[in-house]
Amino acid sequence: MSVSSTYDAVIVGSGPNGLAAAIELARNGQRVAVLEGRSTIGGGTRSAEITLPGFVHDLGSAIHPLGFASPFFRSLPLEDHGLEWIHPDAPLAHPLDDGEAAVLERSIGATAAGLGFDAAAYRRLMEPISADAGRVANFFVGKPSFIRHPLALASSGIRSLRDAKSLAESLFGGEKARGLFAGNAAHSFLRLDRPPSAMFGLLLGALGHAFGWPFPRGGSQALADALASYLASLGGEIYTDAPVLTVGDVPPTRAVLFDVAPRRLLDIAGEHFTEGYRSGLKRYRYGPGVFKVDFALDGPIPWEAEGCNRAGTVHLGGTLDEVAGGEAAVSRGEHPERPFILLAQQSLFDPTRAPEGKHTVWAYCHVPNGSTFDMTGRIEAQIERFAPGFKDLILARKVAGTADLERWNPNLIGGDINGGYMDLRQLFTRPMPRLNPYSTPADGLYICSSSTPPGGGVHGMCGYLAARVALRYLA
Ligand SMILES: Cc1cc2nc3c(=O)[nH]c(=O)nc-3n(C[C@H](O)[C@H](O)[C@H](O)COP(=O)(O)OP(=O)(O)OC[C@H]3O[C@@H](n4cnc5c(N)ncnc54)[C@H](O)[C@@H]3O)c2cc1C
Repeated sequence: MSVSSTYDAVIVGSGPNGLAAAIELARNGQRVAVLEGRSTIGGGTRSAEITLPGFVHDLGSAIHPLGFASPFFRSLPLEDHGLEWIHPDAPLAHPLDDGEAAVLERSIGATAAGLGFDAAAYRRLMEPISADAGRVANFFVGKPSFIRHPLALASSGIRSLRDAKSLAESLFGGEKARGLFAGNAAHSFLRLDRPPSAMFGLLLGALGHAFGWPFPRGGSQALADALASYLASLGGEIYTDAPVLTVGDVPPTRAVLFDVAPRRLLDIAGEHFTEGYRSGLKRYRYGPGVFKVDFALDGPIPWEAEGCNRAGTVHLGGTLDEVAGGEAAVSRGEHPERPFILLAQQSLFDPTRAPEGKHTVWAYCHVPNGSTFDMTGRIEAQIERFAPGFKDLILARKVAGTADLERWNPNLIGGDINGGYMDLRQLFTRPMPRLNPYSTPADGLYICSSSTPPGGGVHGMCGYLAARVALRYLA
């Protein structure tokens, strides 16, 4: 690396939040550089051929309801920079052991129609919040204060503060509707009998109806590449293989925005902070980790339930009780025999992902933070349960445990992909309770990663909001 210039702002890390911060600063006339420690940009949004030639796998994020709905990303001309969103026929399917699946369709009515006697209850739950979807998405641009949170604004707001299990049990009598809600809520990494797990069930369902759950053609790397290309058009510079180990590694600049986890921020810049801020960073809590397997397949997954063939994402975990039990086991430090699995089958809808007739599959389950347990067999057995014959199609697999993930991206502490636990206490006050969560006690040093509000997921809003704060300082 040779970064010899002087900048208005330097961003450490090229994840979606780092790139978003750089873009917001650059489009407001600031001279910016991004320093990425790895040889490829994108952080959690990278793709590569990691199994066999011609099979493109998403190494981190795969499905992007948040990225597609993000008001910041929507304000950027990313399509002019190569991004093409693909919408699968249906966002999500959740199969059960009876050979049928609950399907989250774009239409609330069509989804409800598949839920039998829970149809009316589903419509009553989702119609108000989906009608509010604009405001739900706008939560990303609002100040991250509690009162302006979308789910507090939305008519279903109070419900979102409940736990998913009791809410689903009180609203639905059938396993299809209960399972569908449980799977979405389990994206929270929270126990489903703990608040605010219901928030994630409501938010992801509403985003599915209002925006869809699309993914970028060619892999999630295409989103990072489009952000980088737009940044370059604004004059922003990006340097790869440029790890920042201390603040001294940063070239002359007025502001530094760190797209890193609190533990990494402490390593890099701890000496510049007050004792109080340092101990806040040390106390920051990380959530469970993930165990991930990418498969190259000789054909499409032979799902028993027809609905699964139309969905980009499939949630494997059976009934509400089973999903809730598995997530509770993970939170106790155990590894469930039948884990809840998030699976994406992008190649069914994007032929660029695999050679003709072949397919890619992206799958992960939750495990205790820092787990060293190999979940490969349990993940394969769970897929086989709903798709007999799946194992016979495996041409190659690539496994990543929590330590592999952290080696790949130092932000994934113990395999936590959300930048920290997202319970009520830490969702709104990450990385710690402060009037301005993006600033630090050190003048000109900011944090812009998913360890700030609004938290994990590919939406760029942490970066955008941190950049707005830095712009006030730079003005
Ligand atoms: C397996 C997996 C599956 C996921 N699935 C989804 C999904 O389907 N949908 C979704 O919306 N989200 C998903 N996510 C979450 C999503 O990827 C993250 O929330 C998002 O990438 C966070 O963005 P970020 O910019 O805050 O940080 P990151 O994406 O983690 O980027 C941080 C960057 O900073 C770099 N860096 C760190 N330290 C330094 C340093 N000292 N010097 C220089 N560079 C440094 C890292 O190398 C990295 O490139 C998934 C994540 C993983 C890992």
